[in-house]
Order: sequence, then C-alpha cells, then structure tokens
Amino acid sequence: MGTTIRKVSVLGTGVLGAQIAYQVAYSGFEVVAYDIDQQALSTARERFERLSHTYQAEVPGADDVRTSAASRWLRLTDDLADAAKDADLIIEAIPERLDLKRETFAKLNELAPASTIFATNSSTLLPSAMADSTGRPDKFLALHFANRVWQFNTAEVMGTERTDPAVTEELTAFAGAIGMIPIVVHKEKAGYVLNSLLVPLLNSALTLAAGGYAGVEDIDRTWRIATGAPLGPLQIYDVIGLMTPYNILAYGSDGDRELAAWLKTNYIDQNKLGVSSGEGFYKYA
Ligand code: NAD
Repeated sequence: MGTTIRKVSVLGTGVLGAQIAYQVAYSGFEVVAYDIDQQALSTARERFERLSHTYQAEVPGADDVRTSAASRWLRLTDDLADAAKDADLIIEAIPERLDLKRETFAKLNELAPASTIFATNSSTLLPSAMADSTGRPDKFLALHFANRVWQFNTAEVMGTERTDPAVTEELTAFAGAIGMIPIVVHKEKAGYVLNSLLVPLLNSALTLAAGGYAGVEDIDRTWRIATGAPLGPLQIYDVIGLMTPYNILAYGSDGDRELAAWLKTNYIDQNKLGVSSGEGFYKYA
C-alpha cells in the first residue's frame, strides 16, 4: 500500500518522540523534530546520535551509510510554526497531559495547512478527548508506537467516530511504509490492543506476588513455560520500570493502592526500580 505522505513533523523529542522521528527519517521521509527550546533540542541531538549506534547494532542492514542518510533527513527546530508549515502529517509525542495536548493542537490548527493530518501518540488519553481542539476532527487520530520502535514495531491506528476512514487508511499505509506492523483498532478503546492485553496480566502478577501466593520467579516461570513467552510479567515490569505501575496504582482503587504500597516498601524505597537502576524484581549486571 502506498502513502501520499512525504513530510512529517514530530512534536516532542523525548523517549518516544525521538524514536518515532528517527524511525520515520530512517525510512526515507523528510522529518522535522520539534521541542520547546534549545536545551531540549541539544538533548534530542544526543538521543539521535545514540539511536544511530543502536540501529547499527540492532537493526539488520543498518550500516553507517543508512544511519547517516537518516540524520540528513532529520531537521530540528524550536519554532512550532516552522514544524507545522508544510507538514503532511504531524505526530504529537509531548508529555501525557490533556491540557497541554489540547493547547498544542489548537495552536497547530492555526499554523498547519488545512490538509495536514494530526496524530497523537498518547498511551492513556483517548483521541476523542482532543478531537475538537484540533479544529479538524476528520483528519485526527491516534497513532500509537511502542517503546523501542525499531524492535517492537507495532503501530496502533485508532480513530474516533469523527475520523474520516480515508485518513485511517492513509495512516495505516504510512505505518507500513515506516517499517511498522499497523494494528487497526476499529473503535476507541483505552489501552488500545496491546495494553488491554498487557496491563491485566502485569497487575495479576503483582497481585500474586504482593499477596504471597507465589514467588516472583515462579510467577514468571509459569507464564514462560505455559505460553512460550520469552519474558514473565514481572520481568516485563523490570523493563518498563517500577515507577510506572506505582504512579498509576497509587491513584486507583483501594486494592490498587495496597499494591502500590507493597511496591513502595519492598522495591521503590530501596531504589529497586527495575533494569534502569540495576535491580527490580531481579538483579542486573
Ligand atoms: P518524555 O517525557 O520522554 O518526552 C516528552 C518531550 O516533550 C520532552 O522532550 C519535552 O521537552 C517535550 N515537551 C514538553 N512540552 C512540550 C510542548 N509543549 N510541545 C512540544 N514538546 C514538549 O515523554 P515520552 O515517554 O516520550 O512520552 C511522550 C508521549 O508518548 C506521551 O503521550 C506518552 O503517553 C506516549 N508514549 C510513551 C511511551 C513510552 O514508553 N515512554 C510509549 C508509547 C507512547
């Protein structure tokens, strides 16, 4: 399937925004990466430099020639008007705050051509909560990537009731053109497909461990042996980092708050935050 999209702007050059911008540039599209100031852009440059090494080490066929080409396709700016002015597609990967996203889309609507498609990479906010702020709800949808886009290459494509089906089709084709496996979500669903499957599994594993029903290693072993999965749920939590479930559970139901308290006492207060801190449910070299 071909895509008519040529010029892409990515807003936010943090963990996910930098990966999305790099992957799109690596796939041969012209990319403008926008962040709020020069300080953020200098961090972005470092992220892109690290990504070029990661791609060379981990992506089959990614040699110096291809990563240098990706860098040439990538331009950085801290001027939103510059990022918006002739983009065919703008992908938003700014912090997970509804007010900030709505405000940003409202500004973009003034700055971008009427034909530009807007997409959000939000993990937890529904696109319908932002659709009116875009001023073009028919050309707005969620395009949701997973962390480590070059390796975990799903792109969930999820419109609202107001998204033009032709726009969903266009972004499905675009996702394929940038090396992603497009997963079309036919109706709005918090958590898309991936997190609708993953979050209940991860939280059930926490409930088993916190309740003392089984040991950490046995919980993971059971899942790996019985399903053939490469990682158990608590190993996955170590990769995600334990602050993420803690921050979510701490504001949930009574049961969620008990799980959060257990995580805090046994892991977070001891700086066992997962792979990033060298220890979580497991120890890392
Ligand atoms: P992050 O905190 O790493 O990066 C956010 C970036 O946005 C920073 O570079 C920051 O300077 C910039 N920023 C702040 N205000 C801005 C503004 N007004 N306009 C433009 N840029 C601004 O965050 P992240 O983890 O990359 O998450 C970004 C989005 O991607 C969130 O919506 C999140 O739900 C989603 N997401 C994250 C992951 C993940 O694993 N981290 C996975 C999928 C989706």
